[in-house]
Amino acid sequence: MFDQNDNLVQPFQLESSHLRGRLVQMGSVLDIILHQHAYPAVVGHLLAEAIVIAVSLATSLKYQGVFTLQAKGDGVIRMLVVDVTNDGGIRAYAQYDADRLGDAAADTKLLGKGYLAFTCDRTGADDKYQGIVELTGGTLSEAVQHYFRQSEQLPTGLIAAAHSDGQGRWRGGCLLVQRMPREGGINVESATPEAEDWTRAMMLLGTCTPAEITDAAITPETLLFRLFHEEGVRVYEPTALRHQCRCTQTRVENMLKSLPRAEIEELAVNDLVTVTCEFCNKHYPFDKKTRDTLYAVNK
Ligand SMILES: [Zn+2]
Repeated sequence: MFDQNDNLVQPFQLESSHLRGRLVQMGSVLDIILHQHAYPAVVGHLLAEAIVIAVSLATSLKYQGVFTLQAKGDGVIRMLVVDVTNDGGIRAYAQYDADRLGDAAADTKLLGKGYLAFTCDRTGADDKYQGIVELTGGTLSEAVQHYFRQSEQLPTGLIAAAHSDGQGRWRGGCLLVQRMPREGGINVESATPEAEDWTRAMMLLGTCTPAEITDAAITPETLLFRLFHEEGVRVYEPTALRHQCRCTQTRVENMLKSLPRAEIEELAVNDLVTVTCEFCNKHYPFDKKTRDTLYAVNK
């Protein structure tokens, strides 16, 4: 089921224009994540896009820990959450309003008005890198580009796409091109060689189609060369991606112990309290005897 070549992020650089980028291609890992819940196709589609976007952003940062992308809105899809660890472990889930799915249309309306937030929880660090941008009615990609333009002054272009073959097999891809952070700020709007490089790279990026970026038969090198061969594209070592949930019996127990027992008991069905991981949908059942032990230890 797991094929490393099928799930990877390919870093690259465009030598002549001094831009860097990431190409994310995912298949079986999306299948694992999306099949953990019975998502309707439109929800699965947007979550798959959020996943490939989150991976492209996470792997552009240097960090040890967890990068989280969270989109929250008042639309049919209430929330999308994607976690990416620095070594390529991914988990994700979506919350949606099943009753309103009938009138779901394009991406934008699915999330409605809300925000897109990025958090980087670095191992051992007290401060969290945090960024937030309004979902202004565009796609997730547009919101991300808007964020980097406004908040980081780091011109960023990206396209993302996902599709399912109708048999439950998903493909997703994201191509991100970014200026390298530099001192003194960057102005891509004035008529400088830098701005021309940027404009040209964005034009080339714009020629990449959703079909190309989700085609399992096109290798990262082939696609990058096809798009950017005149820019002197150089590829670096790719990183393999995998599904990895971080829920454990101990974490669930600690979470239960942090709550008053009376509240927990109210959740019992046939004397069984079951905690379900929102990400991977794994069930953690606690019978009365286990709960007694758990709370006895706590005292
Ligand atoms: Zn889990």
